[in-house]
Amino acid sequence: MEVKGFPVLVVEDDTVSRKLLEITLRKAGYRVTSVKNGLEALDIFKSSFFPIVLTDWMMPEMDGVQLCRAIREEVSTGYVFIFMLTARGSTDDLVEGLEAGADDYLTKPFNRAELIARLKTATRILELERSLKEANEEIRILSITDSLTGSYNRTYMNQNLPKEVRRATRYNRPISLVMVDIDHFKRVNDTYGHQAGDQVLKGLVETITASVRSGIDWVARYGGEEFLVVFPETEFQKAMGLAERLRRDVSDMKIQIKGDTIQVTASFGVSGFSPSTSPKEISHEAVINLADQALYQAKREGRNRVVGHPAGP
Ligand code: GH3
Ligand code: MG
Ligand code: MG
Ligand code: MG
Repeated sequence: MEVKGFPVLVVEDDTVSRKLLEITLRKAGYRVTSVKNGLEALDIFKSSFFPIVLTDWMMPEMDGVQLCRAIREEVSTGYVFIFMLTARGSTDDLVEGLEAGADDYLTKPFNRAELIARLKTATRILELERSLKEANEEIRILSITDSLTGSYNRTYMNQNLPKEVRRATRYNRPISLVMVDIDHFKRVNDTYGHQAGDQVLKGLVETITASVRSGIDWVARYGGEEFLVVFPETEFQKAMGLAERLRRDVSDMKIQIKGDTIQVTASFGVSGFSPSTSPKEISHEAVINLADQALYQAKREGRNRVVGHPAGP
């Protein structure tokens, strides 16, 4: 673990001790910031983050134990490894410090080599914590992503669609849904093979994603070759136009596989909640059902088309 530039906050009221700590830590490669008491330390945490805090115990304004407690309660950016520096040696005092949230302690006068060695242990633990967090985040993303197309999956949809529809009805905001189903997709699989079919699904999601607002609208795989596009803050009529644009983009799509050029079309069912015309109590299931019915009407009427059923008159 490289400690070069690792930020450390020193909290110490005694000027000489503070300078000594600064010099020792800088020599070891840490980026040191120092303050005179707990209040100043908390203040600086409002604008910067320090993964390591080295704090004196006895200080005016706010002592080390109070600072420990405050950091544990108030700092949520990431884990802070807290060292208590104390002249006291009694076990009771140490227990109080550790219970307040300190991770380790050193008694004054401290041995420089020991201080550096313990800090290095702290950086190892912080590094481990960071990689665990990253791994968790990766798992979280995998758990809501469709592995073939990279769109959201059904799990994500089940978690988020009810929330989106509830938010819309509660705050009187419009929301629209578009259900997309590839036309005669079985034929694609039968003619070109399942892998070619997979490429078409990927292409479809790329095309849809490129055409909707990034970070606002979202696409989820609803079933095999059926996708749901959610357009928050979008009136039904507007969504009809967007679906029509998607329909054109999909039919223009050319998927090249082993010398073949595959083209497909898709059918679109649109529905939505509109604060001025839809019933207030409408559920996400009801809105999905309407989109589904519209989709099947589009299929019946000949495919490669957009049909809409708004919630309400
Ligand atoms: P329609 O126009 O009525 O929608 O006809 P269709 O052939 O698309 O309808 P259907 O829903 O009966 O068929 C969907 C096909 O999609 C059947 C299934 O094998 C295929 N499929 C579902 N998931 C995947 C997948 O992940 N990869 C591939 N290649 N095919 C899939
Ligand atoms: Mg002191
Ligand atoms: Mg289909
Ligand atoms: Mg289908």
